[in-house]
Amino acid sequence: MRRREAEYKIRQVRIESEKKHEIDDMKLRFFTNVSHELRTPLTLIISPIISMIKDETDDDKRRKLMLIHRNSERLLTLVNQLLDFRRADMNKLQLNLLTGDIINFLNNICNSFLLLAEKKIKFSFKSSIPSLRMSFDDDKISKIMNNLLSNAFKFTPEGGSVSVTVKAKTLCTDQKEQSGILEINVVDTGLGISDNDKQHIFDRFYQVDGNHENPFGGSGVGLNLVKDFVEMHGGNVYVEDNPDGGSSFFVDIHIFLILTQA
Ligand code: ADP
Repeated sequence: MRRREAEYKIRQVRIESEKKHEIDDMKLRFFTNVSHELRTPLTLIISPIISMIKDETDDDKRRKLMLIHRNSERLLTLVNQLLDFRRADMNKLQLNLLTGDIINFLNNICNSFLLLAEKKIKFSFKSSIPSLRMSFDDDKISKIMNNLLSNAFKFTPEGGSVSVTVKAKTLCTDQKEQSGILEINVVDTGLGISDNDKQHIFDRFYQVDGNHENPFGGSGVGLNLVKDFVEMHGGNVYVEDNPDGGSSFFVDIHIFLILTQA
């Protein structure tokens, strides 16, 4: 009797856990579908606003249009993040490599980010090399940068500064290929991150002071995706203290380029 009772309990637990998993999966599928549906109208809101901003001569109206643009872009980024999160969850993230000048690409992301920034924060972009042709996934690199930059701007008060420095380390070139490490360093003079939190901020859903209402909003998904995207590039991401106060995020990615033979 006791054995049968134990077997029954085990079966019940298994059935309940399967049911819970199914419900979780349905919820996630629902969120993913809704997110997907939100993308088209958002894109259709953004493109006419951009052309209206270009044509508008009245300063006040232009400022308001830019505010609408900024917030629509933010919504689109959040929706895309939800979709990436689901893809990562199902191990369906794929690396789509193209070959191009990564320095120019990073510079363009930083410039366009600056246009969307709301606070008065000093911003600089520096690179140790003027250009570097390599293979990378443009969509993933731009998401890595946008996440790190939006955190840096979010946690830095007005009057502070954010900088991006790019360095090519140990670059070796032979006749067939070029390889090395590209270091991207995003530094801010914001709140900073304690040593204990440094070990967890790349975990999924982790937020500093996660038990309290977070005045900065967010979901704790961004840095986890950053880590996934960096690792897909054969790289590594970590954070240190900025000696001037604030945080310093390092992204090291593998430089790889097959040189075509003449
Ligand atoms: P969130 O959506 O909460 O911003 P993230 O995964 O991007 O999620 O970040 C996780 C946590 O790491 C944040 O809640 C924040 O507390 C901390 N954090 C991230 N970037 C910075 C930064 N530049 N300065 C201070 N804290 C940061």
